[in-house]
Amino acid sequence: MAGIYVHVPFCRSRCIYCDFYSTTREEEMAAYTDALCCELKGRQAELANEHVGTIYFGGGTPSLLPSSLLQRIIDTICIHYDVAEDAEITLEMNPDDSVDVATLSRINRISLGVQTFNDKLLRLLRRRHDSTTAIAAVKKLQAAGIGNISIDLIYGLPGQTMETWEHDLQQAFALGIQHLSAYALSYEEGTLLSRWREAGKIQEASDELEVAMFERLCQCARKAGFEHYEISNFALPHFYSHHNSSYWTGSPYAGFGPGAHSYDGVRTRRANRPDLSRYLQLMTHEGVNPMTDEQLADFEQLSTAELYDEAVMCGLRTSRGINLAHLKERFGEARLQELLSQAQTHLRQGRLKLTDGCLRLTEQSLMISDDIMSDLMAVSA
Ligand code: SF4
Repeated sequence: MAGIYVHVPFCRSRCIYCDFYSTTREEEMAAYTDALCCELKGRQAELANEHVGTIYFGGGTPSLLPSSLLQRIIDTICIHYDVAEDAEITLEMNPDDSVDVATLSRINRISLGVQTFNDKLLRLLRRRHDSTTAIAAVKKLQAAGIGNISIDLIYGLPGQTMETWEHDLQQAFALGIQHLSAYALSYEEGTLLSRWREAGKIQEASDELEVAMFERLCQCARKAGFEHYEISNFALPHFYSHHNSSYWTGSPYAGFGPGAHSYDGVRTRRANRPDLSRYLQLMTHEGVNPMTDEQLADFEQLSTAELYDEAVMCGLRTSRGINLAHLKERFGEARLQELLSQAQTHLRQGRLKLTDGCLRLTEQSLMISDDIMSDLMAVSA
């Protein structure tokens, strides 16, 4: 099964921590939809032999698009690709957007960017919603019959205490959601948040507090019956995100729109250039082939060592771990033996475990996973 990712590069305003590609030029939404539909049609041969099991609208803020434009994109995908009857189709939403999901055919999963239920922190992040709006948005989605709702939360925010974090978790689980993605705040270069830190205007959370918050997250999720299936992702049984899971298992996916990434499931990666104006120009230019044009996208052939590193990294991120039989089949006995020998110290010291033919991180080592992954990689070795 393959996945389709659609990048919707519009935001009403910019949040201080975000470095995703988006613009506030909402007047270009209709032209963007025309261009996107051209790209979708022009690249259908890429997934000609694949069933599409997941579609994900990410951003930016896909819920800013008027329903008629969203529906046009969904219809274009369904006409030009072999979309499974029961495909998981996710729309990222901001709590304050009013798109009426009930009027959109086929959207069956919502990922809601809540970030925190603390109004003071929401104002600091320059989010446009408050906690009351976020709670009302979940209830409205539930009333509209959406039975698969994910919430995004961030921990380690400046000024966030363990008490406010616990309140966020309690509030999230009390809403009866099915999935939670929780990320430690990261200070991305060039963001206002990073500049404020450099200027001493805000204080970064200590490593100890972040670790304690992560541990509390794992405890609360477990208590609420959620499975910790990937470092930052928790779900009730049967509600894992199929789309994100396909990124971690190396399945093919095609990304459309400026800034979207694709992978052919073998060794070619594609990154659409993050430039809306150029995208609009190119997609209306007759001489451009959206499958191959290097003005539209960068293409990269991964080496075997890079593919191996991705398999190790993605395997360790998930609770399923690295399946050693599959790894041997893909990369050979020598590489498997090398991995096992590199893993020895971590296995002895309880940071990794080997069960049912799979190598996994132990719960205590999830917060130091980056160090362990880099120890096991081929390219960085
Ligand atoms: S966090 Fe979301 S809403 Fe805020 S600027 Fe980034 S993409 Fe836009």
